[in-house]
Amino acid sequence: MHETRPVAPMLFDTDVAVVGGGLAGLTAACRLAASGQRVTLLEARSRLGGRVLTVPAAPFAEGAWLDLGPAWFWPHQQHIRALVAQLALPVFAQHREGLARYEADAGRAPESFDASGQSDPSYRLAGGMTALTHALHAASQAASTPVTVHLNAAVHTVTLQPHGVTIDGTGFRGTARRIIVAAPPRVVSRDIVFAPPLSDAMRATLIDTVTWMGHAMKCVVTYDVPFWRNAGRSGYAVSWGGPLQEIHDACMPPSNGSAAGSALMGFVAPRTSAAARAFRDASLEERRTAVVAQLARLFGPEAFDATGYAEYDWTRDRLSCGPHDDMPPAAHPDYGHALFTGDAWNGRVIWAGSETSEIGGGYLDGAVASGWRAAHAVLSFAESS
Ligand SMILES: Cc1cc2nc3c(=O)[nH]c(=O)nc-3n(C[C@H](O)[C@H](O)[C@H](O)COP(=O)(O)OP(=O)(O)OC[C@H]3O[C@@H](n4cnc5c(N)ncnc54)[C@H](O)[C@@H]3O)c2cc1C
Repeated sequence: MHETRPVAPMLFDTDVAVVGGGLAGLTAACRLAASGQRVTLLEARSRLGGRVLTVPAAPFAEGAWLDLGPAWFWPHQQHIRALVAQLALPVFAQHREGLARYEADAGRAPESFDASGQSDPSYRLAGGMTALTHALHAASQAASTPVTVHLNAAVHTVTLQPHGVTIDGTGFRGTARRIIVAAPPRVVSRDIVFAPPLSDAMRATLIDTVTWMGHAMKCVVTYDVPFWRNAGRSGYAVSWGGPLQEIHDACMPPSNGSAAGSALMGFVAPRTSAAARAFRDASLEERRTAVVAQLARLFGPEAFDATGYAEYDWTRDRLSCGPHDDMPPAAHPDYGHALFTGDAWNGRVIWAGSETSEIGGGYLDGAVASGWRAAHAVLSFAESS
């Protein structure tokens, strides 16, 4: 019989540990590394990006992609726009030309309407939103003190020490002078133990902070041609017939001489209705069939000529969603509670993550703003000590 020896945990000692390799954690890590801090980034998943999730769009040319997480940013969002400009990432406008569609229920014929002027224009990134997190990762590695990234490294315990913190997790133990916690607050409240415990008010704030879009499920259907555009339609639709509630054009721009990939994307109705729950619990094939049938009702029978289908149900993602995040909030929450910028453990713990940001909270903009705010806080402490 072979003796199995326990695997020794990975050990590290660093200036700043960052929990979570989503946009907020990466933004903070990058800024700190550029300022000469030794940064160790601990990410529970096997990939970086968190809610930023871009997948390959199989039937098209190499490099075609689909966003199953965030896709847009808007002109008034200064932090994300500044970061995109700084990283020189190619941007294109969301397609909006043409008439939109409205469906009151699945039994009634949909109507066309003019949605132009109903919302601000939005912008997308060529290559998908993951272009942003890839570029940040590349920048973090090009810094004079490159960020050390550990994947599959879920943090379980953070313990206060006289001169910093110790951090224990899956297969590792480390020490840091400060820790930036950039995982969604409700996930932190469920999965990470702080010793000594955080204040009651801080714990309540973590639990109360809804993960934005945690309730969402996105479906994307690909086509050889954007047949809705060719028929004078924008691809935008609002539907109460289900399963999708809000649909948008999700075509990729042409790149490197290859043709654009054509796609429609939609958000599934939240789990609040029995129909939406049944749809989410059905088989993949049943879901694909229902989505394509709905697109055919809205945009015509060409929708049956789908070349591919991709989906992601964020309610099943335990690293994004904490308790109760499978239900949508009644309105966009008032993010950026004052405790997130307070002095937890005398500044040893610093909070980041989109939901901690007063500006752009819940959005990519808030993630970037919080990452920069957290990095600035660390550097201010470094200067004053
Ligand atoms: C379907 C969908 C559509 C969206 N659309 C838009 C949009 O169009 N525009 C927009 O601005 N925003 C949109 N958003 C919101 C946007 O995605 C988020 O605001 C942003 O990505 C949050 O970044 P973050 O870094 O704060 O958090 P996250 O991306 O959630 O990153 C947190 C990271 O922490 C990790 N983690 C969790 N627990 C641990 C642990 N114990 N140890 C180590 N790591 C851990 C997670 O794995 C994750 O990588 C959308 C979100 C979804 C889900």
